[in-house]
Amino acid sequence: MSKKIFLNESDAPKQWYNITADMVNKPLPPLHPATKKPLTPEDLEPIFAKELIKQEMTSERWIDIPDEVLELYKIWRPTPLVRATALEKALDTPAHIYFKNEGTSPIGSHKLNSALPQAYYNKMQGIKRLTTETGAGQWGAALSFASSVFGLDLNVYMVKVSYEQKPYRRMMMQTWGANVIPSPSNLTDAGRSILAKDPNNSGSLGIAISEAVEMALKGEQTRYTLGSVLNHVSLHQTIIGLEAEKQMEMAGEYPDIVIACFGGGSNFAGVSFPFLRHKLVDGKEIRVIAAEPASTPKLSRGKFEYDFGDTVGLTPLLPMYTLGHDFQPADIHAGGLRYHGAGTIVSQLRKDGLVEVQDIPQLETFEAGKLFANTEGIIPAPESTHAIASAIREAKKAKEEGVKKTILFNLSGHGLIDMTAYDQFLNGKMQNYDLTDEEIAKTTDTLEKLV
Ligand SMILES: *Cc1c(COP(=O)(O)O)cnc(C)c1O
Repeated sequence: MSKKIFLNESDAPKQWYNITADMVNKPLPPLHPATKKPLTPEDLEPIFAKELIKQEMTSERWIDIPDEVLELYKIWRPTPLVRATALEKALDTPAHIYFKNEGTSPIGSHKLNSALPQAYYNKMQGIKRLTTETGAGQWGAALSFASSVFGLDLNVYMVKVSYEQKPYRRMMMQTWGANVIPSPSNLTDAGRSILAKDPNNSGSLGIAISEAVEMALKGEQTRYTLGSVLNHVSLHQTIIGLEAEKQMEMAGEYPDIVIACFGGGSNFAGVSFPFLRHKLVDGKEIRVIAAEPASTPKLSRGKFEYDFGDTVGLTPLLPMYTLGHDFQPADIHAGGLRYHGAGTIVSQLRKDGLVEVQDIPQLETFEAGKLFANTEGIIPAPESTHAIASAIREAKKAKEEGVKKTILFNLSGHGLIDMTAYDQFLNGKMQNYDLTDEEIAKTTDTLEKLV
């Protein structure tokens, strides 16, 4: 039995998979924030590259990956599928646990899978400048490298708490040539209005998105890019699951359970949609679990409503599970999971009972991360520890029930640049954050009035 299952470059998938082609209930359409009418492609053209808008709205099942992107994927892809034998042993479980290691990318996470095609399509259209936001810095780092590959200028609005807690990713972005700005900033109307109300605001992805979108709308030959939530981002990430599908077959196994951590849903979509296809098309028995932070529980405790993707209300209204665009997440270390909403495709799948959710408290995630580090050697990203914690829960359940389960989870990134978080955990300085129903009601009660 091999520990790692490698796929040859020549066997790598050459298309991405669009799950909307196989969904019985399609996601509801996004709405124009002013007219409240379904968005047209033209509405989005000031914000996104045309080809990405096409991918956002397409119902085609398979989308060709451009040759230039395939060539760049070869820098680190296909990523290994690994059997977590040492973790299995430590848990004394009959479960077989596999993980897809997306931490092997040059930036250390799955985000580069979408950054490269997004920069590519913008470049092909003649765009000169990109703007974006970043939480923990993973998306900003990915887009910084992708922008440097394609010769594009880049402004990154980085959530202030991460800018301060995680200076190394700022330095990575700057090494790849990006301009990094802590958000909320004084450079935009959105940032200035937040700071006027709360000068010590530590920022959120929602605020940073408002700033980056505003700058894209104001700038010439400038477009905005997003690292999660949207359909085209999930589409690009399906390269993870399409590779894993082949690798599981090489291992002679098929997953009973597929797990990923959940921020906006892109790595979750990436690893799970190709397997969900078997459920939708062939009726295969498979469970997929989204592991979200207990402090940002949009899928389990949020409302399914139209809501803005950002804090200020510049983005289209998206039909999604949301905690409300005014929700201010606790300062947990999994910066990439501090977002109020879930992508529209995952939201519809969740509504239709095709996706399960587990809420994990911060301390449980770091306990899981530490056990994983001590068994498999890899120190996982704080975000990825949510998937590990969920996999451990399922492996323990398999032991209690005395059944062999095959579990596949996505290791969305390594945590080598997040060691201050581990330091706090090891020194007993980390805490859980409880969220009451009243607190959730504050930012979700008025959502239905948006449309
Ligand atoms: C950004 C990020 C996430 C969360 O984003 P999704 O779109 O939900 O995948 C998870 N893990 C890592 C390592 C990240 O950088």
